[in-house]
Amino acid sequence: MSRNVLITGSTSGIGLGIAEAFAKNGDNIVFNGLEENGAEIAKSIGEKYGVKTVFKNSNLMTPEGVQELVDFAYAEMGSVEVLVNNAGIQHVSPIEDFPIEKYQQIIALNMNSVFYATKAVFKKMKDQKFGRIINVSSVHGIRASEFKSAYVTAKHGVVGLTKVLALEGAPFNVTCNAICPGYVKTPLVEGQIKDQAKAHNMSEEEVVENVMLQKQAVKSFVPIEKLGEIAVFLAAENATTVSGSTFTLDGGWSAQ
Ligand code: NAD
Repeated sequence: MSRNVLITGSTSGIGLGIAEAFAKNGDNIVFNGLEENGAEIAKSIGEKYGVKTVFKNSNLMTPEGVQELVDFAYAEMGSVEVLVNNAGIQHVSPIEDFPIEKYQQIIALNMNSVFYATKAVFKKMKDQKFGRIINVSSVHGIRASEFKSAYVTAKHGVVGLTKVLALEGAPFNVTCNAICPGYVKTPLVEGQIKDQAKAHNMSEEEVVENVMLQKQAVKSFVPIEKLGEIAVFLAAENATTVSGSTFTLDGGWSAQ
């Protein structure tokens, strides 16, 4: 049975990879993101896999923006079976120089939007006795790195929320899990390579080898396709007992 999947921040990087995996699985997708070609991306994935796709460029920094996206999803699709909270941003800086505005934006998007989107779908998921919520946290949801105070705070918050939602959803076949990737080569990380190079006074090549992948035992970026596959696995009809967990795909980072 094809389901309707709402994925935040799905017109780039990991979200796009997850969208493609669900489309390949025969599911319909509500795309969201700030990329200008979002509508074209949604259309091309829809045509490629023969599924219904729609796009809304809601800005998820505010509760109103999140509600607008969720209302759009229900208006276009009629129901939402799977919610993937993926949209996120990063800023790297020592805390003493960390701009307060950047901190507030990271908390608003990376953590608060997860709460708002989930709150907006949860009652309907309970009523339909089916819901799969997948939060894209990070290895930084369970481990820390210096200069990432806002991001690590937000991602740890998402892991905490994931556990609460698993408990609240359990009697209603509504599950919630977090995916915790190590480094994935996306536009977000390409930006970080530049920032880290500046912060550490290193070349971009040195940052990749000595800073970014230094904590991963496996010295390669996590493939986006694997994140898509695990998201589809977590959303399966028979995955009722898979809930409240963090799934690390971090090249052995958190094994240490
Ligand atoms: P990305 O920059 O490629 O994609 C982010 C998406 O979020 C884009 O579609 C962007 O338009 C959207 N977005 C940004 N601000 C938004 C806003 N205000 N409202 C709505 N949408 C907005 O980044 P990515 O690397 O694919 O990251 C996706 C998620 O994965 C993030 O939550 C990130 O923290 C997490 N993550 C990434 C990595 C990595 O190494 N890339 C590792 C662990 C976790």
